[in-house]
Amino acid sequence: MIDVCDIHVMKPLLSEQGFHFSKAKGQNFLIASWVPQAIATESGVDESVGVLEIGPGVGPLTQQLALRAGKVCAVEVDERLKPILQKTVGEFSNVEILWGDVLKQDIPTLVREKFAGLHPVACANLPYYITSPILTALLEADCFEAVTVMVQKEVALRIAAAPGSADYSAFTVFCQYYAEPELLFDVPPHCFLPQPKVTSAVITLRTRKERPWEILDEATFFRTVRASFAMRRKKLSNGLASGFPELGKAGAAEVIQAAGFPENVRGESLSIPEFARIANEIVKRREQA
Ligand code: SAM
Repeated sequence: MIDVCDIHVMKPLLSEQGFHFSKAKGQNFLIASWVPQAIATESGVDESVGVLEIGPGVGPLTQQLALRAGKVCAVEVDERLKPILQKTVGEFSNVEILWGDVLKQDIPTLVREKFAGLHPVACANLPYYITSPILTALLEADCFEAVTVMVQKEVALRIAAAPGSADYSAFTVFCQYYAEPELLFDVPPHCFLPQPKVTSAVITLRTRKERPWEILDEATFFRTVRASFAMRRKKLSNGLASGFPELGKAGAAEVIQAAGFPENVRGESLSIPEFARIANEIVKRREQA
């Protein structure tokens, strides 16, 4: 197996093909072999698992996943990497590369077709310019048992944040609605070529088999969450009145009271079940109107 993380191997491999890194495609390739090994180990992949990898690059993580998984499907947008991936992962019969933009894939169909009889997980060193849309697509696909990804550390902290903390955001609630996050380890900039400006972190999101909250309408729940964070450090009633103009200020205050919160409550301190209580009151009001 070619050690693609060895810079003395990777550089000639890339220059043979006249390859230049694309900043626009978020290409920061791993050059520290402990990192893909640790990601693959921590993702808990074994032969009963089918892994969707996003952005294999020259294949360091693909190789480590292929050594452990039943099957690896890797979606890569940059077709210039074709001859390189052929050399680095071509020897693995359980690896399939799909060429294209991951955001244009029908992920549930892909998982059904490629991973029949396997436990599906996703694993990736993500291109940072589209971290949120990719994570959103992976979680909304609702078909993975776990999603283990390397992201910018500040994003990892945001995903795992607790209510009321500075990192807590609408994206936190979105991720924690679908999954339970666990921060695994940091990866410093010198582990990549070219080096990113920021520290990275690996995080695992174990998707929830059941969502232990009563949510009458998912769309209203997420609208409530977005409205609550749209005006940070303001009273929740202001955010709700602006996110749900049909409520008006008085209606927003009534919803908050009916859900059992003080009138000066702030959105950024609420947990998922507390957002659910507010959203459910909005739904009930709508139904009564
Ligand atoms: N996995 C490799 C590694 O760890 O060295 C490369 C990771 S690099 C941070 C991100 C990879 O995602 C690049 O190979 C890039 O070409 C690919 N990529 C960027 N945008 C993509 C998209 N929309 N769909 C699929 N792959 C994409």
